[in-house]
Amino acid sequence: MENTKNIIELKHITKTYEDGFTAVSDFNLEVKQGEFITFLGPSGCGKTTTLRMIAGFDIPSGGEILLNGKSITELPPNKRPINTVFQRYALFPHMNIFDNIAFGLKQKNTPKSKIVKKVKKALELVDLEGFENRSVSTLSGGQQQRVAIARAVVNEPQILLLDEPLGALDLKMRKEMQLELKAMHRELGITFIYVTHDQEEALTMSDKIVVMSEGKMQQIGTPEDIYNEPQNAFVADFIGDSNILDGIMIEDRLVEILGAKFECVDVGFGKNKPVDVVIRPEDIDLVKPEEGTIRGRVTHLIFKGVHYEMEVTVNGFELLVHSTDLFPVGQEVGIHVDPFDIQIMNKPESEDEEAAAIEE
Ligand code: ADP
Ligand code: MG
Repeated sequence: MENTKNIIELKHITKTYEDGFTAVSDFNLEVKQGEFITFLGPSGCGKTTTLRMIAGFDIPSGGEILLNGKSITELPPNKRPINTVFQRYALFPHMNIFDNIAFGLKQKNTPKSKIVKKVKKALELVDLEGFENRSVSTLSGGQQQRVAIARAVVNEPQILLLDEPLGALDLKMRKEMQLELKAMHRELGITFIYVTHDQEEALTMSDKIVVMSEGKMQQIGTPEDIYNEPQNAFVADFIGDSNILDGIMIEDRLVEILGAKFECVDVGFGKNKPVDVVIRPEDIDLVKPEEGTIRGRVTHLIFKGVHYEMEVTVNGFELLVHSTDLFPVGQEVGIHVDPFDIQIMNKPESEDEEAAAIEE
């Protein structure tokens, strides 16, 4: 049965720093118990600030944070059943692994025998059995980050916050740790709130993704939602490669792009309305020139391993195309796109007004 209980709710959260800069504005979010939710966005968009307010290291300038339905907006961090793993491992270099992990439990005056058991269990979870007496300096970066995770989960938090925890690792180690963190999430059954600027990492790991830009939520949804149905050009551009084109919605189910009319499945945008149109590079089918909706010419080709990446110039526009079939540079091709693969989006309001002003 689906768990529908909210563990954390952010209501109209705003953070304005002393210098007057607003890092997060009117942020609303409900996180369900046991969910793996990821804040995704470019550097500086307010991910860490939001996480720090959930942890209690920062107090919001406005709005409210609820934990299991009760306000914790101003509760100090050590009173919250929440632990954080940071990008930099921040282990105590002069303590061995056991003491690093046991630190929080000792502060809570947990009995020694219990501490030993819990530390052992935490080390098993992160695959470092028997590392109790090792010193921090003998561990690799990946191992140190595992210790940091063990140190957080040993306190049995209800929520684990992870702020770019794999950011300092090399690509191979990062991929490995992504899968391990997923497995840990399943095993622990607690809520994970994860921060990354890496869209692939977010798509791989999350139940739900919150896409952020400039302190605001742009979209929330499953990885499939976010990838297949971006709500605006920012999300489309940030998540994977995509072609974002200016279009005119002629009428329901018919859009003009690249100087030709394409069938699509969207309705309700009105008639002759300027829109943004997103087409993923893998959704453009290259066919014989006479079989396409419109013709173009291959102007660039790179072999990417799994597929070829091509640039196809159509009426002066450059389209990015991914295909397992090779079309050499210079070849004339037809462009076909399934109506389902054409995603129509409203233009941002400001541009809308500009367009309206020009029409008048
Ligand atoms: P992210 O984690 O998404 O990279 P942050 O939440 O760290 O972004 O920062 C969001 C914005 O807030 C950035 O522009 C950053 O410079 C600004 N910021 C962060 N901390 C402070 C602070 N203490 N005072 C003023 N501005 C800050
Ligand atoms: Mg950050």
